[in-house]
Amino acid sequence: MMHCRSVEDVVAAIKSGDRVVPRGGGHCFVDRSAPGDVVLDLSGLNSIEVRADGVATIDAGALLGQVYADLHAAGRGLPAGCGETVGITGLTLGGGIGLVGRMYGLSCDRLLSAQVVLADGSVVECSADCEPDLFWALRGAGGGQFGVVTSLRFDTVPEPITTRIEARWVSADPEVLVAVWQAWAPDSPDELTLNLTIDGSQAVLIGASLLPADETRSLLAEFADLVGAPVPFFLRAGMPLSAVKASFAEATPGEPARIRSEFFERSLSDDVLRELIGCGRLAFTAMGGAYNRIAAEATAFAHRNTRFLLETANDRSWSIAHADGSGRVYPNFPDLALADGPAAYHGENLARLRAVKQAYDPDRFFDFPQAV
Ligand SMILES: Cc1cc2nc3c(=O)[nH]c(=O)nc-3n(C[C@H](O)[C@H](O)[C@H](O)COP(=O)(O)OP(=O)(O)OC[C@H]3O[C@@H](n4cnc5c(N)ncnc54)[C@H](O)[C@@H]3O)c2cc1C
Repeated sequence: MMHCRSVEDVVAAIKSGDRVVPRGGGHCFVDRSAPGDVVLDLSGLNSIEVRADGVATIDAGALLGQVYADLHAAGRGLPAGCGETVGITGLTLGGGIGLVGRMYGLSCDRLLSAQVVLADGSVVECSADCEPDLFWALRGAGGGQFGVVTSLRFDTVPEPITTRIEARWVSADPEVLVAVWQAWAPDSPDELTLNLTIDGSQAVLIGASLLPADETRSLLAEFADLVGAPVPFFLRAGMPLSAVKASFAEATPGEPARIRSEFFERSLSDDVLRELIGCGRLAFTAMGGAYNRIAAEATAFAHRNTRFLLETANDRSWSIAHADGSGRVYPNFPDLALADGPAAYHGENLARLRAVKQAYDPDRFFDFPQAV
């Protein structure tokens, strides 16, 4: 393990000739940043600067908890994920799905530029105007493939004040609940995100709303009406995004280390749903909204036509759900059991990604199973 505290440290590590693997939060589900190769621990490279115009320069080793807190201090926010110890760089390079993403897009959609140390030890800045192919590839293809990112520059948003939404109960009919959720949540207003987890008869709804509290309440009442049974929503209005994120990070420790998942462009059919319920934990994340308003070829993130992301607990439930799936998988949820990982992660963007890889890392200095 090598600890890098500066860009010069990263350059020196790459020029040493050893095959290096960058590590941010260390949360890769298939251990791509685990000791074995020479791991470049970037956790010491973590300063954050926010300009008056809201442009934030975030060093690559920063973790989400620190990012939200520092942005909050400047009155700013960023659409990103929930785990406080997840790395901003690993998350952003693979996309970055979060509770306000239906309104503001993926984390990578807010990226303005990045500094990258390439396989030959050169340091480049990339943006829409400068090294545009590299910049395109960094927005959604997944980490560790084109170089070591040392800093990211984001166009942040004024920190949203949100209503935190949570409901936990034993559902009388999980099948009805999923059927209603999948038809409703992906089409709800962009300002509202409601994600569903089912485990046996245990049901959990977690979300955030940027709408006024009374509008949020009436939308959730509409949802409960469709379910046809009481849903014990607990709402807390007036919370800054950073506080909502911190509260959910605490509420959801112990997430499974390995998952099988897929994006869905249409609802699960009744038959699939019936078979699926009772096969272990199912976690549904609502997509749609701003995620889908960017063309699939505009960034490397190829999944711009999806209604939801489903995480399943085991091979059996994944196979059942897969019958209705898009065949596309989130690059930040890598899955070594996929028959063709690169096709699932990148779809029609794979050919261009391979050309970028050939241009920036022809000798595959940065490599792992399922890399571009
Ligand atoms: C508890 C938990 C909650 C999560 N919540 C969400 C969520 O809400 N939304 C979401 O979208 N995802 C979420 N994820 C998935 C997360 O986005 C991925 O696991 C992500 O890859 C983690 O990044 P990391 O920096 O923590 O991990 P790492 O293992 O350090 O990095 C992941 C990959 O990126 C590469 N990488 C890291 N740093 C760099 C760098 N500086 N330059 C180039 N490559 C680099 C690594 O080599 C590795 O291949 C969650 C994961 C966990 C464990």
